[in-house]
Amino acid sequence: GAAMAKSKFEYVRDFEADDTCLAHCWVVVRLDGRNFHRFAEKHNFTKPNDSRALHLMTKCAQTVMEELEDIVIAYGQSDEYSFVFKRKSNWFKRRASKFMTHVVSQFASSYVFYWRDYFEDQPLLYPPGFDGRVVVYPSNQTLKDYLSWRQADCHINNLYNTVFWALVQQSGLTPIQAQERLQGTLTADKNEILFSEFNINYNNEPLMYRKGTVLIWQKVDEVTTKEVRLPAEMEGKKMVVTRTRTKAVPLHCDIIGDAFWKEHPEILD
Ligand code: ATP
Ligand code: ATP
Ligand code: MG
Ligand code: MG
Ligand code: MG
Ligand code: MG
Repeated sequence: GAAMAKSKFEYVRDFEADDTCLAHCWVVVRLDGRNFHRFAEKHNFTKPNDSRALHLMTKCAQTVMEELEDIVIAYGQSDEYSFVFKRKSNWFKRRASKFMTHVVSQFASSYVFYWRDYFEDQPLLYPPGFDGRVVVYPSNQTLKDYLSWRQADCHINNLYNTVFWALVQQSGLTPIQAQERLQGTLTADKNEILFSEFNINYNNEPLMYRKGTVLIWQKVDEVTTKEVRLPAEMEGKKMVVTRTRTKAVPLHCDIIGDAFWKEHPEILD
């Protein structure tokens, strides 16, 4: 602490590198599951999309937003989540390593802590890990383009995976054969294979799979029942209490077009 006398060893602190994030810029932390291809296999994830895993990821991201300061929006898909800190945040003096390590460690411990709530009879077989990185975006446009990039990635991967696993699970192709079949195909070709061979209209696939998950702060009415303590004649009766709380709420909407940002201008304030 500040009151303590300095030892002769104190000088080693000067070896620490300055990693302050540029003032007034958006700070983004993206984390990604380490070797989740294997993790998904070992834990019997449903292919192409395990909704338990996606909901667990979102629960962890909500925990991160609620435990840490200054996060205004988060976006997740597959084994990754991005967290955006508000431009004027001065949390930990904007040190990149603090932003990143707090986000990633809170997320990873939550993943283990909440595992059972989502996977019930599937035991967690080994401790999962996540990598993290920090990227600083100088303008609203670059931040929106960053988030668009992640959502476009979600779309491209999910379309590919949806056809790939239909070929494997429903047509009995080996993974190699399915991969060869899809080599060089365009979006329209994949949609066509899904429709003509599997009677799947890609646009009717669940939004969570196609768009990923956006977390933003919204006011929600929380309804709870409380035991009445007083007066004595009402003791033991239940009372319904409604209070408004601000929560990190999941949406599965498009964030590439302007509509989302026009509807929620406060995010970029
Ligand atoms: P920050 O988030 O800034 O690190 P902090 O409360 O973790 O805040 P530290 O300077 O890291 O502050 O100090 C850790 C504190 O945790 C100690 O001051 C002590 O109160 C407590 N603590 C840690 N380990 C032990 C332990 N093994 N036994 C008892 N107390 C401990
Ligand atoms: P790295 O350590 O380089 O990130 P990785 O194996 O995690 O390696 P990613 O590119 O991050 O590679 O891909 C994550 C993989 O995890 C996906 O390809 C998929 O196999 C699996 N996966 C993640 N989430 C889900 C899910 N909800 N349902 C099914 N599979 C999933
Ligand atoms: Mg990767
Ligand atoms: Mg990964
Ligand atoms: Mg990934
Ligand atoms: Mg500490």
